[in-house]
Amino acid sequence: MSNPNSPNREYPLERTRNIGICAHIDAGKTTLTERILFYTGMIHKIGEVHDGAATTDWMEQEKERGITITSAAVTARWKQLKEEGIYKTREMEDIRVNIIDTPGHVDFTAEVERSLRVLDGAIFVLCGVAGVQPQSETVYRQAEKYGVPRIAFVNKMDRTGANFENVVKDVRTKLGAPAYPILIPIGAEENLIGQIDVVNQKAIIYSDDEKFGSKYTVRDLEGAEVARAKAAYDELLDAACSSDEELGMMFLEEQPIGPVELKAGLRRAVIANKIIPMAGGSAFKNKGVQYLIDAVIDYLPGPLDIEAQKGHVVDEPENIVEATPNDNGKFIALGFKLWSDKFGRLVFFRVYSGKISKGDTIYNPRTRKSERVGRLIQIQASVHKDIDTCYSGDIAALVGVKDVRTGDTFCDESLEVLLEPPTFPEPVISMA
Ligand code: GDP
Repeated sequence: MSNPNSPNREYPLERTRNIGICAHIDAGKTTLTERILFYTGMIHKIGEVHDGAATTDWMEQEKERGITITSAAVTARWKQLKEEGIYKTREMEDIRVNIIDTPGHVDFTAEVERSLRVLDGAIFVLCGVAGVQPQSETVYRQAEKYGVPRIAFVNKMDRTGANFENVVKDVRTKLGAPAYPILIPIGAEENLIGQIDVVNQKAIIYSDDEKFGSKYTVRDLEGAEVARAKAAYDELLDAACSSDEELGMMFLEEQPIGPVELKAGLRRAVIANKIIPMAGGSAFKNKGVQYLIDAVIDYLPGPLDIEAQKGHVVDEPENIVEATPNDNGKFIALGFKLWSDKFGRLVFFRVYSGKISKGDTIYNPRTRKSERVGRLIQIQASVHKDIDTCYSGDIAALVGVKDVRTGDTFCDESLEVLLEPPTFPEPVISMA
C-alpha cells in the first residue's frame, strides 16, 4: 500500500488516536480527562502551581471563559518514550490523541451512536470502590454494541476500600468481559505508590511530593510484587495466545515470545475486541495516568487499524463507497457534533479520507450545496487553535458553515456520498 501520509502533516496516521472516555456520571470522567490533558501538556497552569487547589482555580477560569475540557473533541499531544529492546529510552515520539466526548446517556440515541462511531477506541472508567455499577454496565454495553475496542481504567484507588482485584473480578463476572490486568496498582488508599507494568515485569513508582508533570521512576520488582506480576503475566500470555492466531501459532511452534511479541499479539487481540486490558491507578491523586496514555497508544487502534468507513452514493443505496484513511484520496468527512460557545458555532467533523484546508470548498450531499471553509480549528483544552489543514483520520471543527446538521457528510464536489442516512429522530439545530 502506498504511504497514506501527506508529507506536510505533523503527526503520521500511525501515531494518531481518536478515543472516547466512557463512564457514567460521577465515575471520574472529568477528572481523568483533565489529568490526561495535563500530562499531554494541554493545560500548563496546574503544573506551575503546586497542589490540587490550583486545579479548581483552573476549572473556574475555564468556566469563566466558557470552554470546558469536556468539549465535543479535544486534541492533545503525547510524547511516548520509544521502546528499546524490552524497555524504554528517553527518546520520544509525538503522538496525537483526540479525546471525543461520549455522552453517558442511558438510551441508544443517535448522538451516542454517532460519537461512538467517530472514535476508534475507548477508555472505560470504573470506580475502585464500587466496581461495576448498574450504570457502568449500560455504558459498557453501548461500547460493546458498536464493537469499540476498550481499555478499562480503575479510578479512585486512593479511596478507602478500593480494591483492584475485586474490580477485575466484577468486570469478568458482571460484564462477562475478557479483562486482563496490564497495570496493577502497588498499594492502595494512602499507600498507593505506583503500578506493576505486567508486560515488561517492572514497577513504575510515582513519588508523592512530585509536582504535576514530573516523571515516574522504573525499578525492578521486589518481594511479593514478583509473584503477583508473574501470575498476571502468565494469565495475559495465555489469553493473548488463545485470542490471537499469530501469537498462538508462535506458542505452538515454541518460538520465543517476549514482551515485544506479547505486546503485538495483545494489541491485535484488543483491536479484535477479544481482550480488554485493565489498568489500575488513580487519576485524582495524580498517579497512574502516564502509563494509561501509553496503553492507549500501544493497544487501542488508530485510523489505519479500523475497517474502511462505508457510505453510499446519494439516491443509490446499493452503490457503496468506502472511505479509507489516505491524505491523497478524495475528501470524505462526517460532521458529528454541533457546538456553540463564546467563539461561535462549530461543526466538529472527522475526516475519513483525503484532507481539507482553509479556503477549500466542501460539498454537502444532503443540501446539494457547496460552501467555502473560512476557518478550521482544533480545541486544545483552553484555546481554539486555527489550523490550515485537517488530514485524514483526524478531527477538527468548521467555523461559519451555515446549513449543517449533525450526521451530515462533507465531501469532495465530485463525490455524492452519504456516510449516514440524513434522517435522525432528533431536533435539527439550524446553523443559519
Ligand atoms: P464525572 O461525572 O464522571 O465527570 O466525574 P468527576 O471527574 O467529576 O468525578 C466525580 C467525583 O469523584 C468528584 O468529586 C471527583 O473529585 C471525585 N474523583 C474523581 N477521581 C477521583 C479519584 O481518583 N480519587 C478520589 N478520591 N476522588 C475522585
